[in-house]
Amino acid sequence: MSNQYSGSCLCGEVRFEIEGEFERFYLCHCEYCRKDTGSAHAANLFSSTAALKWLSGADKVRQFNLPATRHSKCFCGACGSALPIMQMNGELLVVPAGSLNGEVLIRPNAHIFASSRASWDVSLEKVPTVDGFPS
Ligand SMILES: [Zn+2]
Ligand SMILES: [Zn+2]
Repeated sequence: MSNQYSGSCLCGEVRFEIEGEFERFYLCHCEYCRKDTGSAHAANLFSSTAALKWLSGADKVRQFNLPATRHSKCFCGACGSALPIMQMNGELLVVPAGSLNGEVLIRPNAHIFASSRASWDVSLEKVPTVDGFPS
């Protein structure tokens, strides 16, 4: 049985489809992922079998490889949104969970590189929650 996922960037220029299943879902707190996302952690889905197809905007897809590391990312050249990337010579598909449209049923497997957590990233479930802008 094969699942189909669709995704897009914020400006809508880039649209893609993924056919297959994800094996792992990691929340990465490493220094590179925090810089690269501007947030507490990256949220990436991993698959060694799923196929990625760009439906539109393939020419807008940019890749950045951080020199002397294995860290790399794909993003939309127009709006900067994170996009799926093939890693390990095309053997591993890495998909930013937030780039997908619709539901993702798989739950994160782990917080990784937790030793690099931001100092403010503690007990976040205790922070007050509001549905929209704060009043
Ligand atoms: Zn875009
Ligand atoms: Zn990371």
